[in-house]
Amino acid sequence: MAMTRRSFLAGGLAGLTTPAVLDAAISRPRPAAAAGTPRVHARDRAAGAGFDPWLEVDAAALHGNVSAIATAAGDRPILAVVKNNAYGLGLAQVGPMLDTHDAVAGLAVVKAEEAVVLRRAGVQKPILLMGLFSDEEGADLVRQGVRLTPFTDDAGKRLARFARLTGRPVPVHLYLDTGMGRLGMPYHRALSWIVELAGRRDVRVEGTFMTFTEVDDFDPVQLERFIHLAAEAKRRGAALGALHAASSHALFHRPEAYLDMVRPGLAIYGAYPSDTRQRTLAALRPALRLRARVVRVERLRPGDGVSYGRNYIAERPTWVATLPVGHADGYPRRAVEGAEVLIGSRTYRAIGAVSASHTVVELGEEKTVEIGDEAILVGPDHPAIHPNTLAERAGISVYDVLMHLSAALPRRPSQ
Ligand SMILES: *Cc1c(COP(=O)(O)O)cnc(C)c1O
Repeated sequence: MAMTRRSFLAGGLAGLTTPAVLDAAISRPRPAAAAGTPRVHARDRAAGAGFDPWLEVDAAALHGNVSAIATAAGDRPILAVVKNNAYGLGLAQVGPMLDTHDAVAGLAVVKAEEAVVLRRAGVQKPILLMGLFSDEEGADLVRQGVRLTPFTDDAGKRLARFARLTGRPVPVHLYLDTGMGRLGMPYHRALSWIVELAGRRDVRVEGTFMTFTEVDDFDPVQLERFIHLAAEAKRRGAALGALHAASSHALFHRPEAYLDMVRPGLAIYGAYPSDTRQRTLAALRPALRLRARVVRVERLRPGDGVSYGRNYIAERPTWVATLPVGHADGYPRRAVEGAEVLIGSRTYRAIGAVSASHTVVELGEEKTVEIGDEAILVGPDHPAIHPNTLAERAGISVYDVLMHLSAALPRRPSQ
């Protein structure tokens, strides 16, 4: 097993081993702090006591969201999508948290590396790789309990080789393309392919799935194609395992697509896929907090500007505060178009420009915050900093609010 893992590591996991990389960086000997500067110990830095921004991951919120989704979906099992670094929250943190929830039947990723990271983080449940597997890594993945998603014409031959190498039938979920035009075997020529694969003794079909285009009048067409094809394949004796199609959008808009299992990503992290009218079906709570401490508080004179481009000019004496978190950390550049930041119990408008590592907020006529005060830029603590609100105010997708969070931000569990 260790060899197996190493062979994957050799493939380059650099981007995903953030905690280890940070540990190494933090434990490197540092010159003693100059007299007068606040001393921050290496261990505390990782816990967010320094002036570096950090991300909190809230296990209780993740669990609450999974429970709410399971209830909304009539207690169907959940295949929890944790692709793209668990939507920015951190794969190694989120994976084990979701693994322990009874409603979670398995975890799904798009990159093979992410499956390996999940196993290394201790995840026990089945992992579905919703992307193409290579001949080199396939058998290793199968040994690690990763379910493959065949969709190419030569899938049978390739899977047969993995079965020979591992000495067992290969568990798979068949990926069908019902109109998405991205991945999957096109539905109009899938029938004989399905029947052939499902009939193989070296393949075990645990599931069969599709992805919606999320177009109101086309989703029903896709679902009809899927259900019709599945029925036809079953008539010819193919066992298809659990049928699944519903991501977060369908979870809120298309109950007839819940089928045997639902497959949400975004909703698990506590955000709604499109608009906020959906909040009645399931009450979700953002499971993350993007946090930083104020590093500068100053009073602008009339005519003084803020940040690159001088997009903000004070008209009257105005206090402003600087936070050491910017677009390189994942806070959207467009936040200055109306987003707010929570400091203490009040929210303040982001002004000027979000630069790579800094964001400035307007305090007003009074100096209401101090250096070292904690700010929350994204989180559940105030409606103004909810990921959906930030997305609306910045005019960006809520998926980008989460998925653009830098993998280099230190992650720590919420207290
Ligand atoms: C990302 C993804 C999902 C989850 O989508 P959400 O909109 O985040 O719920 C489900 N299935 C596939 C194939 C995906 O790529």
